Amino acid sequence: MITRKVLILGAGSAGLMAAITLKRRVPHLEVTVVRSPDIGVIGVGEGTTPSFPRHFFEYLKLKPKQFYEVAEPTWKLGIQFLWGPRPKFHFTFALELEQRLPELQRNHGFYYFNEDRDWAGPVSAFMAHDRAFPRKPDGTPLFHKSHAFHVENKKLVQWLEGLCRVHEIAFIDATVTAERGDAGIAALITETGQRLEADLYVDASGFRSELLGRVLKEPFNGYADALFCDRAIIGGWPRTTEPIKPYTVAETMDAGWCWQIEHENWINRGYVYASAFCTDDAARDEFLRANPKVANEPRVVKFRSGRYARNWVGNVVGIGNSVGFVEPLEATALQIICVQTSTLADALLDSLQEPTPTLKTLYNHFNAQAWDDIRDFLAIHYRFNTRRDTPFWQACLHDTQLHGAQALVDFYLENGPSIVAGAQLLHPSNSFGMDGYLTLLTGQKVDHGKRYQPKPAEDKFWKERCTRWESDAQRGLDVKQCLASVRQSGIQWA
Ligand SMILES: Cc1cc2nc3c(=O)[nH]c(=O)nc-3n(C[C@H](O)[C@H](O)[C@H](O)COP(=O)(O)OP(=O)(O)OC[C@H]3O[C@@H](n4cnc5c(N)ncnc54)[C@H](O)[C@@H]3O)c2cc1C
Repeated sequence: MITRKVLILGAGSAGLMAAITLKRRVPHLEVTVVRSPDIGVIGVGEGTTPSFPRHFFEYLKLKPKQFYEVAEPTWKLGIQFLWGPRPKFHFTFALELEQRLPELQRNHGFYYFNEDRDWAGPVSAFMAHDRAFPRKPDGTPLFHKSHAFHVENKKLVQWLEGLCRVHEIAFIDATVTAERGDAGIAALITETGQRLEADLYVDASGFRSELLGRVLKEPFNGYADALFCDRAIIGGWPRTTEPIKPYTVAETMDAGWCWQIEHENWINRGYVYASAFCTDDAARDEFLRANPKVANEPRVVKFRSGRYARNWVGNVVGIGNSVGFVEPLEATALQIICVQTSTLADALLDSLQEPTPTLKTLYNHFNAQAWDDIRDFLAIHYRFNTRRDTPFWQACLHDTQLHGAQALVDFYLENGPSIVAGAQLLHPSNSFGMDGYLTLLTGQKVDHGKRYQPKPAEDKFWKERCTRWESDAQRGLDVKQCLASVRQSGIQWA
């Protein structure tokens, strides 16, 4: 059957991103979004990865100007981990540890492992010095593509809704139930009995998973043997004199970790914890002790890590939290929504809107792999963090299952931060790549069997290069200066 009419259930980030992506890529589709005024959106999801600007400004070719004006983002170069034996280390969106300069015998990971410095290349040097971008000779920022954004969820949804209206996407405000049919779903039924029918139903109903989970009863594959956290307590405070950091902070806590996300006028904190090791009250106490400035009553969000076995079942495609979830340790949920929505749009385009069984199978395989890759990468954050000796972290060190990351970790333990593993043990679509793995393994100083001692000349060269990166960073612009500059210059984006 040719897909002409699409009903999207849900108007959180997932539903709205699905609507815009489909409409922009397949303009003659009739796209309607159904959302419940009573249920509302989850209201979290504020850290992004470079997939976000790539999706909106390159793939969908939207103008960044309006995003900047409505959503008021700040820039994120990566994550600062207060984690493992170093006081801190930096995960960037650039490739740093797998790089090898012609003057050096090994890739940078080998040199970084030996040191106590908390950065390992040009972008992490900027992060370590709280600088966002290099300064051009005229004083304006030199933007590069190794960045993402921090954006308040409310403002993000507002921007996305505005885009939907410009693209003539219809909205229906109603809480619906679903009627099952031969192809999957036959119709969505509103409280007043109105039947809403479509050729394709996108389930973006969040954790409720109204269509895929509740009606179609797709099996759920949990990630509880790798990721033990299942709750977050969230609060924040208005920014006063604190500098705006160009990164998210992930700080080790007794039964999990705490994020700090930087908005221009608000600092958002959230403690992700495991309810098997910590009650809500104890988490609240620890969270408030660590963040005495929290100005609102913190709220608890419960979640379950894992994914449904398939996300395209019959005439239903799940997008966002309705199909899978992992905690935001690498802020990957919006990234995966970008991938899910662009792959769906391309699938409809390439199949002349008549998706075939092989295409659906491939889509499901691709999505399952993307979720499992994230689980595996997050698992190494837990398996090797020696920062706190609490029952939770003891359990993480002993019991975290590495699944698909096991072979790469085994290789690292024997061979060190060698890039040889990347090509063999990671498939090309792994979004963290070898550089991501090396950052986490060397950042946490996970010991290995092939320590490398560079010769004096080589050591001197590496140290001089680091000094150069450091002085470049010290000359860079901070987030506040970059914001002032783009506003003054009429908002020019890379
Ligand atoms: C603690 C926490 C922190 C997070 N941090 C990040 C982060 O930093 N970065 C990141 O990328 N992601 C993060 N996420 C994930 C992020 O929240 C989601 O990826 C994103 O908000 C998408 O949510 P959603 O649209 O799938 O669901 P929701 O926002 O829950 O939207 C669900 C929609 O479905 C509608 N709906 C549901 N049932 C019905 C019904 N029966 N009838 C009509 N409408 C219905 C609701 O009205 C709503 O519009 C975080 C998640 C959590 C839990």
